[in-house]
Amino acid sequence: MSAAIINGKQIAEEIKFKIKQETDHLKAERGITPGLAFILVGDNPASQSYVKMKEKGCNEVGFYSITEKLSGYVSEEIIIRLIEQLNNDPQIHGILTQLPLPSHIREDRILGAIDYRKDVDGFHPINAGRLLLGQPCFVPCTPLGVQELLIHSGNYPSGKHVVVVGRSHIVGKPLANLLMQKNERGNAIVTVVHSSVKDISLYTRQADILIVAIGSPEFITGEMVKKGGIVIDVGINRVKDNDAKIGYRITGDVHFQSVVNIASAITPVPGGVGPMTIAILLRNTLWAASRKIYSE
Ligand code: NDP
Repeated sequence: MSAAIINGKQIAEEIKFKIKQETDHLKAERGITPGLAFILVGDNPASQSYVKMKEKGCNEVGFYSITEKLSGYVSEEIIIRLIEQLNNDPQIHGILTQLPLPSHIREDRILGAIDYRKDVDGFHPINAGRLLLGQPCFVPCTPLGVQELLIHSGNYPSGKHVVVVGRSHIVGKPLANLLMQKNERGNAIVTVVHSSVKDISLYTRQADILIVAIGSPEFITGEMVKKGGIVIDVGINRVKDNDAKIGYRITGDVHFQSVVNIASAITPVPGGVGPMTIAILLRNTLWAASRKIYSE
């Protein structure tokens, strides 16, 4: 039997609908329009397209947004000065630096300069630490999007063996933290595997819920998946395709065709985790504007 498709696009639309309603309310009752600033460094086409999609999301829900475009040769000092301005700008409630940054820029220095109360990406050490401790914080958008996908599709992680493939600061690590937290949205038994693990299929085959974030097109195939397991594909890869008008196609980290007949539920790429990431970014920004997480 073929797996159920977890429709991230539809779930994201439902979340955005609620955000729009709450935004209208925030504007009418408190005169606050949520504001999100994007910092885009260099001319990486994937980064440009991600920022465009996020700007579009802001428009859909009625946010104010600005994009600061900087040259790929910009210094750390210039970026930090810009962040300080945005930290002090009352119209801006969220600041997002699109990653990756050029190699001469120290990512941790830039992310650490953002006011943690405006850190809607959840990458500031204060938010990362608070996530680990189970305290209120901004949670990174993709991991929180994955958790929401699981819950909205009725696949609660509680008591399940979740195997996360990949341990990046952006996806794997915060996701593992989030799902092992002692609460009704977490409570999972979490295993994290990475590139130093010799045979990851020993682990992936045991997963009730398998979440893959490695950046390797169609790496996970049917024989690496437990029968009846749930598979969440975080990967977004551009693969050369001469038949496609744009010269490439987007694939996930999971080989959909071979996994769809083994798993009981699976996210597609595109239309799975990607739209959730944007919806959660917008919700984090709404929460920053309404001071839901940090009241000071
Ligand atoms: P990174 O490159 O930062 O991290 C990749 C991780 O995967 C590393 O921990 C690495 O291990 C591990 N890894 C790589 N190859 C293997 C392998 N063969 N076996 C086991 N582990 C492996 O990637 P990101 O986390 O930033 O992104 C991962 C994917 O998710 C990408 O395709 C990216 O485009 C996508 N993505 C999608 C988002 C969305 O909104 N849907 C948002 C963010 C990312 P090690 O640590 O040992 O090097």
